[in-house]
Amino acid sequence: MHSKFASRVNRVKSSETREILKVTERPEVISFAGGLPAPELFPIQPIQAASNAVLEENGAGSLQYSTTEGYIPLRTVICGRMKSIGIESDINKVLITSGSQQAIDLTGRLFLEEGDTIICESPTYLAAINAFKIYNPSFVEVEMDQDGMIMEELEDQLKKHPETKFIYTIPDFQNPTGRTMSRSRRERMIELANQYDVLIVEDNPYGAVRFAGEAIPPVKHFDTEGRVIYISTFSKIFAPGLRLGWICADELFIEKYVALKQSVDLHTDSFAQMITFKYMELYDIDAHIETIRAVYKDRCDVMLRCIDEFFPANVAHSVPEGGLFIWVELPKSLDSRKVLEECLKNHVAFVPGAPFFPNGKGNHTLRLNYSNMNEDRIVEGMRRIGEVLRQQIG
Ligand code: PMP
Repeated sequence: MHSKFASRVNRVKSSETREILKVTERPEVISFAGGLPAPELFPIQPIQAASNAVLEENGAGSLQYSTTEGYIPLRTVICGRMKSIGIESDINKVLITSGSQQAIDLTGRLFLEEGDTIICESPTYLAAINAFKIYNPSFVEVEMDQDGMIMEELEDQLKKHPETKFIYTIPDFQNPTGRTMSRSRRERMIELANQYDVLIVEDNPYGAVRFAGEAIPPVKHFDTEGRVIYISTFSKIFAPGLRLGWICADELFIEKYVALKQSVDLHTDSFAQMITFKYMELYDIDAHIETIRAVYKDRCDVMLRCIDEFFPANVAHSVPEGGLFIWVELPKSLDSRKVLEECLKNHVAFVPGAPFFPNGKGNHTLRLNYSNMNEDRIVEGMRRIGEVLRQQIG
């Protein structure tokens, strides 16, 4: 029966993170593996009130088929929120998607042909690599430092690969590194994209979750020629289970995205869209985001302190100003998969870094998530990882 599968299926494996997440569902496991928001912060009662209001006011409408583009009041609110961070748009430039993951998947469908070149940060978001891999592109990785993708290297790669379709970037508190691209690099990225006539896919799920440093406008803010496709989501500021994301791009692109989305799912869940809009009408989502920021800041601080206290001195790590992740680079002699094996015996988990490099490297790296465990569990889990590292470093 295996011969029946399309050959592209063989390029897609179930993500390593998902496999580890299965193990970490056991309650005794302290998990820094997933990218899960803090469940205790979900505004359950307000969402219940918003759901009741939707059902009372427009029950049939919320349960009926609706337009592919998405619920107009929600798109209008999204335009307002993007304006406040420096993106000018209107509802014709916004398409609501089933999570930003669908926006990434549609981006692959829209642009990629076999053998196309994508430029991305090294490392980058695993589920984007997998979504794009279906089309068998070649991934050109550009090195990063603490200020994000290095522009001299980007320019070198654009010279070598002038046929590049798009640059895929996560500028704010990147997954997996937690690093943020500086303002001047964002401006330079736009200049280079204009010069080499490539698109930029800006995947920005974490921008609103900044808890330190100065806010930097999204890459799309600097866009002069309509070549940035901006993707974001309610997952990290509201509730990922509702599966609400969006794409903001010029109409030329949105029309094509809409046509593709029609054959995928007709439209995004109407009820979820209406609940989210109603929540924002009845409650202050910015106050809610403030709470998320404060909690994540404390958790991140605790985790950073634990690295200093429990990890060997020759371990390097990022210092995020927001988002959900810290990136760790172990001495090159260590394999983080082996470290993980030992850690799982001690009921603590993280994600090895290698899968985040599309062309394979980074065996000594790993990603830690701090949003999903309380401070006591962070301390205990980090102590256990520290013990394993000290044993393996010897
Ligand atoms: N992009 C990045 C960089 C992510 O980290 C995630 C989620 N972890 C997504 C997109 C997808 O998020 P969602 O589909 O929940 O909006």
